[in-house]
Formats: sequence, C-alpha cells, structure tokens
Amino acid sequence: MDVEEHFQVHGFENVVRRDEWGQHESRIGRNVERTLDLCRRHGVKGTFFTLAWCAERGGTWFDEILAEGHEIASHGYAHEILYKQGREAFASDLSRSREILESRMGSRVTGYRAPSYSITRNSLWAFEVLKDQGFEYDSSVFPIGRRKYGIPDAPCRPYDVRLADGRTIHEYPLSALNLGAWRLPVAAGAYLRLLPSFLHFSAIRSYEARGIPAVVNVHPWEMDPGQPRIAGGFAARFFHYTGLSRTEALLDGLMSEFRFGPLRDLAAASAA
Ligand SMILES: [Zn+2]
Repeated sequence: MDVEEHFQVHGFENVVRRDEWGQHESRIGRNVERTLDLCRRHGVKGTFFTLAWCAERGGTWFDEILAEGHEIASHGYAHEILYKQGREAFASDLSRSREILESRMGSRVTGYRAPSYSITRNSLWAFEVLKDQGFEYDSSVFPIGRRKYGIPDAPCRPYDVRLADGRTIHEYPLSALNLGAWRLPVAAGAYLRLLPSFLHFSAIRSYEARGIPAVVNVHPWEMDPGQPRIAGGFAARFFHYTGLSRTEALLDGLMSEFRFGPLRDLAAASAA
C-alpha cells in the first residue's frame, strides 16, 4: 500500500499545490481503516509505504497499522519525483521522512517506495542514498517503459542492485506480465482498476508457478469512491477516478486466492 491523501498524486499537482495540502479534507484515516478491515478479514499483513507528511499530522490510523502487525515503510516526505528533485534534495527528503516515521514507530524503517515509481535510469543514485541511510530494500522500479517512469530492461523479479562500491540493496520491482517482446504492467494502482481482472490473476499465477513473489500495489484512496472530485486535466481524472468502486472487490478476490506478506519478510529471508 502507498499511504497518502487522495489529493497528493502527481496528476493533480498543478491544481493542488503543496502549500495548500493542509487546506484539503483529510480522508486518510477512513481509507486506511477500510484497507485494514479488508486485510483483517483475510488475515493478510502488508507493507504500508507511508508519506511522512501525513504521519506528521497525527491520526490514530498510523498506530493502527502498526498495532495490527503490518510493516510501515517510507514513501518519502513531500511526494517529490526523484529525477526532478535531484540527489541532495532526495537525501534530505528521505532522512526527514525516516526521522518522522521512526519517532512514531519507535523502531527502524528499512523499506522505501518512491513517489510515482520515480527511480528510473535518471535517478539510479537513489540506491546509494538509500543504502547510506540504512535502508535494506527498495520497491520503486517498474520494469516497463513509460514516459514518466519505468526501467524497461529491469528484471521482473526480486533482485539485488550492486552499487559502485560493491554494496548491494534488495529491489522488489512492481509486477509485469511478459507477452512476447511486450511487458504489461499489472496489479498496481490504475492498471489494477483499468485492466481486466483476469490479467492480474494470470500474471500472479505465473509468478507463483515460477516460485517468484509478485508485488501488488494499491493506495487506500483507491478504495474511496466517494472522494471529492478535483478539477484536474482529463487524463489525470481518468486515471485517478476510473474504477474506484472496483478496487475493494478486486483486492478481496486477490486476497482470497493468493497469500500475501510484508516485504520486510522477503528481505529478512534473503539475509538469512
Ligand atoms: Zn504516492
């Protein structure tokens, strides 16, 4: 899960400025609650990549995620695109997020997911910054080619990124279905809501048949069909609002068929 408010997505950044975030209705508490209910019904534990801007503003939802045994990981502080902010700004955003999350958790944060999957060939330095700050794994790489994100030749399975100085960091890329020379993004965000559900199920079954864990990614705001509509551009509204009423049933189906777990368990298993 990527935990953030419904108005913080990049599609709306020209309409909802960062300095206006505090003026918008917060729906994160009820949306996280809905997500936790679903996980509870299926006995599922997951990783909640939480935007520290939201954690900083309080709310019992953060403590509930922890109390129910899920993992809290970092989604950064201000939801900036990595290849736009650059290495130094990323390092300070990351350490700010870590301090806020760790002070609420009372324990270490070890995982990270970049806003809008923005670790690309233009921001590979992010792995070094993550390692320098003690992170054990990342889950930001989408192994597909898109204009704004993706590393099209990245492996479609967990792998270790080797840094220039020989250190390594675990990468758990988002999931893709191989169709000959094509890779179709599956089981994440708008793709989950927009593509037919059999594609997600068959992709995850194919991962499972090969003994490889698939990464499934959703935002709690995607389970909130009643969220207020923001007057963004046509494409932003299409990708943000289409299929919101399908998300919960889709996740319910996935959680009924497959076993899920937090990414920290994979990182721990590969360290063992
Ligand atoms: Zn995000």
